[in-house]
Parts: sequence; C-alpha cells; structure tokens
Amino acid sequence: MRIVVTNDDGVHAPGIALLARAAAAYGQVWVVAPDVERSAVAQAITLNGPLRLRSVRPGWIACDGTPTDCIHLAINQMKLAPDVILSGVNPGPNLANDVLYSGTVAAAMEGARWAIPSVAISHCASGEDLLEDLAPLLPGLLAALMPMVRSRPIAFNVNLPSVALGPWRGMQVTRLGRRYYSNEVHERTDPRGRPYYWIGGDHVTMPDIAGSDCNAVRDGLVSVTPLADDITRYDAMTDIHAALVGPATELSVVAAAPDHPHPALADHRARAADHASAAAGSPDGRSNGAIWPPQVTTKESS
Ligand code: MN
Repeated sequence: MRIVVTNDDGVHAPGIALLARAAAAYGQVWVVAPDVERSAVAQAITLNGPLRLRSVRPGWIACDGTPTDCIHLAINQMKLAPDVILSGVNPGPNLANDVLYSGTVAAAMEGARWAIPSVAISHCASGEDLLEDLAPLLPGLLAALMPMVRSRPIAFNVNLPSVALGPWRGMQVTRLGRRYYSNEVHERTDPRGRPYYWIGGDHVTMPDIAGSDCNAVRDGLVSVTPLADDITRYDAMTDIHAALVGPATELSVVAAAPDHPHPALADHRARAADHASAAAGSPDGRSNGAIWPPQVTTKESS
C-alpha cells in the first residue's frame, strides 16, 4: 500500500513525523507537506504563482504551497497514486464548522476529490507538547481506521480526545456539531503608528448536540466524521423557490443527491494495483518507481 502523508503545520512539525512513522507499518510512505505552517488556509489552491517541490530527505518532499497544493501535486504531478492519504496530526481540534477553515481537513477533502480515501487527524489539545504522549496510541488508531477507510474513497475527519484527559473510551461515528467563537478583534498599533487587527475569539462555546463530533471528544471518544463536499442547504430550497419562482413543484423539492462515481476512480484503482505489485519486489517499496525527484539527464551523463 502507498500512503501520502501531509498536514497544514509544515513538513517539520512534530505531528507529521508521528503520523508518518505510524503509517509506515502499512507500506510505502511519502510525505508531501507545506514547507512552513499553513494552518487555517482551508482548501486554498495556488493558481497565480509558481509551486516548487524540494526534497527534505528520501521520501519527504516540502512544497511552498498549501496543503491542497501538496495533494494536487502528489497525485497529478508526482503521480504517487496513493491508496490512502493521511493529514495531520494537527495539534488542536478540527471540530464542527471549523472544518471549513482547516487546512488539515482540506487536504483530506482534496484527496477525496481525486477519489482517494483520505483521513484528517487532529488532537483536541492545544500545543504540540502532548503529541509525544499520543505517539504510542497512533498504531492502534490506524489499525482500527485503515481497513475501514481503504475501500471508501471519501474524506474522514478524525478528532482525538486530549491524551491529557486520560485513556480514550472508544470510537464514535459522528456528525459535525457546532462551535461558536467569541467575537473579539484586537486592535494594536504597529511600530510606524498604523493600526492593525488580530482576530481573537479564543473563547468557544459548543452546544450539546447528540451524536456530534464535539460531544464525542467531550465524552472521551475518538470522533470519526465522514465528510461530504456538497454544502447545499437542501432544507431551504423549497422556501427559496417559493419566494423567487413560485409555489413548490416537484422539481423544486430536492433531496441530497447520491454521490456520483468519480471519473478518476477507475484510474486510481488501476494505478494502486500496479504499484502494489511493483512494491512487492522492492526492499523499501520505493526504489522501483523513482517517481520523484524527476530524473534529470545532464550533458555529462548523456
Ligand atoms: Mn494546523
């Protein structure tokens, strides 16, 4: 199995090293991650500037773009054809409607866009100092998740209760909850006397929503939320149709459509099968493809 690991905290963040190490038990791991922290960039993609890839060490690639750029290049430029994409471990929760800000989650959404099972993993504790305590728990977590996600080419958002709060009580499949932030914006003055603003809002309230990701981690359960990228308000369509067009008709009452099979799905499956057999004959599962860096022919060698 080939696994691409990314994050939004940068290729040098401790969380990605833990995740890559745990993922290595499942096959060949490629890390393709932003060169610097790109948290809260959502699913931004770079369309108006160059993107560069730099080898950090064998199998570890830094990209000077967003998490979504990393996944896009890993799939469509480096042709890694991952069987699974893992994003994280983010030091901090990605719960409820925060998934729309998160770069960690966006990387998984981008993977799912290319019909690859993709898992975002976040630790519901602030700071990175607890990540080392998380390390011994990751093999067990992946043992539970990997067989399930492998055959499901969608995005999963996983939130881990803080290890500081004691052992996890189990796992729960959840829906997104709600998180509301306080509204403060801090105003300061820069050294040249001009005002600048810093978005605060660290105070969070989470309503008690049964079955939500927020409730699950509050209760010490690992939260697993399957995510869709259709954010249509189906429940509002009939009413809006009545206001704009006229009385509801059969056509204006729409339920969530079933997922369409991804055009890249068959392609992805075929390549995944290809490199599964190729990796079987290679000691590190990597030398057989020489996928990246590209082989450059110099004058001397030609
Ligand atoms: Mn982050």
